[in-house]
Amino acid sequence: MSTANALLPSLMQRLGVASSAYSGGTLVVCSPIDGSELGRVPTHGQQEVAEIVRAAHESFLTWRNTPAPRRGELVRLLGEELRLSKNDLGQLISLEAGKVLSEGLGEVQEMIDVCDFAVGLSRQLYGLTIASERPGHRMMETWHPLGVVGVISAFNFPVAVWSWNAALALVCGDSVVWKPSEKTPLAALACQALFERAAKRFGDAPEGLSQLLIGARDVGEALVNHARVALVSATGSTRMGREVGPNVARRFGRSLLELGGNNAVIITPSADLDLAVRGILFAAVGTAGQRCTTTRRLIVHHSVRQALTERLKKAYQALPIGNPLTPGTLVGPLIDKASFDAMQQALVKAQEEGGVVFGGERVLHEQFPKAYYVKPAIVEMPAQTETVRHETFAPILYVLAYEHFEDAVALQNDVPQGLSSAIFSNDLREAETFLGSAGSDCGIANVNIGTSGAEIGGAFGGEKETGGGRESGSDAWRAYMRRATNTINYSKELPLAQGVRFDV
Ligand code: NAD
Repeated sequence: MSTANALLPSLMQRLGVASSAYSGGTLVVCSPIDGSELGRVPTHGQQEVAEIVRAAHESFLTWRNTPAPRRGELVRLLGEELRLSKNDLGQLISLEAGKVLSEGLGEVQEMIDVCDFAVGLSRQLYGLTIASERPGHRMMETWHPLGVVGVISAFNFPVAVWSWNAALALVCGDSVVWKPSEKTPLAALACQALFERAAKRFGDAPEGLSQLLIGARDVGEALVNHARVALVSATGSTRMGREVGPNVARRFGRSLLELGGNNAVIITPSADLDLAVRGILFAAVGTAGQRCTTTRRLIVHHSVRQALTERLKKAYQALPIGNPLTPGTLVGPLIDKASFDAMQQALVKAQEEGGVVFGGERVLHEQFPKAYYVKPAIVEMPAQTETVRHETFAPILYVLAYEHFEDAVALQNDVPQGLSSAIFSNDLREAETFLGSAGSDCGIANVNIGTSGAEIGGAFGGEKETGGGRESGSDAWRAYMRRATNTINYSKELPLAQGVRFDV
């Protein structure tokens, strides 16, 4: 059997990445599929961070004067390059992040979708006209490019997160510096090559408009602390956000934080269980439980708890686990050993807290001794304990029971994170209450749909320890621009606001 890395050279070549870009460096990248080494990527030092940000700022000074619809043309070309390379980039995501191929391809589709969205947006960066209290005056809001946008991304969406930020930032007139996860730099190199192809076709994009910074946390820190980075958009763990947020605030920069989730689904007595099982299954075990929106908690009414849990256990037993590039596989590997260890520790702690564990053990270790495949776990818990309240980035689904609807909503909200949530119910009152002001406190609240797999048209992000940021659709573009309020006097008088008199 050939190892995962045998596929890499031809993929990288077609994507336009020279082998020197991923060999001879110090950052060792391994495939979670079988642990084989994919490359050794050269990293950037502190001095290079400063140079790259300086070049990005120079580039911004030109780009901000390029008309927004023309900026949209560059993003349209990027979308075209992504369409042409969808299969190759999707496979590379599978190789490097371990996602099953359809999810790798889905991630690229998400990039294409956000490019399309941003192209339309490039003609819709509207401000308001506001009634002035003074005669012969007009007030308005104008939106202007912000500056250099620093993007820090996590391993589990190795490329889509960059595109959500970059597509919007570019049409908004900003330049971009991207620090991808140290676990997935190869997919980032491929995106950079595709961007450069698009920029070449575009013709007059300024040098350094979108650049890559390769390295670990220290390189991210240098980016975060650079005074020229107007917005830091950081996606990753709450631990990371707790460091990045204050560091950016200390220099009065802006941050957009997309951090950990602990997403719940409420199953009410009227729920369509066929729909619920499908929804829960995809959201709980898809991407091997390594999505920020993965369903981690199931809050089930007593009357349906046993029936639903039995059906889920049956479905879990039939899950095809294995090589994510093999057609039919639904659950690929965990990213690495540390992730496997964290999962096992959480299961032990949950048991100590009274939980009953189903699944969770390592599988396929004879075939893949250097990779970490697990059976997704279902853990029936007596209460929402500390372990349940913590995000473990692995496929563990905690099941909790409730009696009264208000208790279910209270349990759903009683965690530090606030990303995604869902209810399965055919009771209009319950569904609407869940979506209302006293319902779910998350940034995403769904009815009869699981917690993961958001569309790019909506704003994406969450509350509380999830960080409060919003990316992608709706009016998320505003984070990438600065707002000016303008008052214009076209009269021959100079009346003061609030009736103040200052006659000289
Ligand atoms: P991580 O926090 O370990 O790393 C994320 C990125 O932050 C990496 O690029 C890393 O190098 C960088 N980083 C870490 N510490 C830093 C610091 N002090 N300063 C600057 N940069 C720093 O996360 P991970 O393990 O790659 O990803 C999993 C986590 O990401 C989970 O918690 C998941 O929920 C979260 N996530 C959230 C979203 C979202 O949109 N809310 C999306 C994807 C992943």
